[in-house]
Amino acid sequence: MTGTLEDIRALEARHVLGTYRRLPVAFGRGRGSCLYDADGREYLDLVSGIGVASLGHAHPRLTEAIADQAGTLLQTSNLYYHPLQAAVAGRLAELSGLQRTFFCNSGTEAVEACLKFARRYWHTKEVAGRRGFVAVTGGFHGRSMGALSVTHDPHYREPFVPLVEPVTFLDPGRPEAVAAAIGDTTAAVICEPIQGEGGVRPLSEAFARALADACQRTETLLIADEVQTGLGRTGEGFGFQRLGWQPDLVSVGKALGGGVPVGAALLAERVAETIFPGDHGSTYGGNLLSCRAALVFLEQLMDSGLIARVRSVGAHLEVLLRALGAQCPVVAEVRGAGLMWGLELIIDAAPAVMGALERGLLVNRTDARVVRLLPPLNIEPADLDRAVEILEDVLTGMKASA
Ligand code: PLP
Repeated sequence: MTGTLEDIRALEARHVLGTYRRLPVAFGRGRGSCLYDADGREYLDLVSGIGVASLGHAHPRLTEAIADQAGTLLQTSNLYYHPLQAAVAGRLAELSGLQRTFFCNSGTEAVEACLKFARRYWHTKEVAGRRGFVAVTGGFHGRSMGALSVTHDPHYREPFVPLVEPVTFLDPGRPEAVAAAIGDTTAAVICEPIQGEGGVRPLSEAFARALADACQRTETLLIADEVQTGLGRTGEGFGFQRLGWQPDLVSVGKALGGGVPVGAALLAERVAETIFPGDHGSTYGGNLLSCRAALVFLEQLMDSGLIARVRSVGAHLEVLLRALGAQCPVVAEVRGAGLMWGLELIIDAAPAVMGALERGLLVNRTDARVVRLLPPLNIEPADLDRAVEILEDVLTGMKASA
């Protein structure tokens, strides 16, 4: 890596748009579950690029496949066939039960595609008036105009109104209110099985069931946003499988490329048959590089026992975190599944994140008071032991009034 942290910060301050508040560290190298800063200092990475570096950093098979693909062919556009899209789509169908894939480049684009496909479904069926979306308070789906429209946080939304309308937000604590909000003006419901950016909040069984029942009764499309929860993260192929949902559309991203940008909308056949050439598209979507990376990730996930490993290593992490929560008065609640966990504090989580950084551990703050853990899916249990020891050191030193 060239330049000190100060050099990099000074240059960014001049030329990079200020849409992010960064922590004071720069990384130029990673291996496994560790990152290394400009001085060569090692950090244990329980953020993994926000759930993206699913196989850890510089995974040998992923590295080899990317290098090989870069030397063979990167991109041809969707004007022509290549062999890798169908291969990835087939594996995603095997894992999800949804037969069709539309490829794009990010989670936001996957959500955007799902919203468009939901509207196109009703348009093709010549049902007028089913244009509305139902989403959930605290939900996050991205920041493009469509995805932002179903994202709840007013802080993200308000500067950009008017957004796509109509959107109704449901309180996940009130399953009894669901049935009345979903009906013959609703195109689709969109929901994360566990809210990620919203503070690692699993849906209650009652709320999840109420959504699925209302969708089934009214024939409303159900979109599971699995950008964060999907592809093994919760110890299942998808978070919706834990809820017993049969979604019509699923958005995925993050983990799929192991760090190479790729997103996908997965469609049930009944939706897929209402979509036609020209309805949606992407220049880069499903390019050879991202498909090759996705194939390596899916092979690890589906053929090498990674999902079962997430379940067992995740159970180990849960035990450690619950013990930590019981012992630290600043921890109000421990929530999550698999390798997606949040520690809700009774105070702002920012000092805890900084304290961990100073001790060589990367964790992330979300929804103000939540410390979020999204380690690589293949992290070693010993690394989790070390991470929780560091967290214990940080959190026991914190005062409730901090
Ligand atoms: N949906 C969910 C549930 C997410 O967590 C995110 C990102 O955190 C997105 C959509 C947007 O994904 P991306 O940032 O890759 O565009």
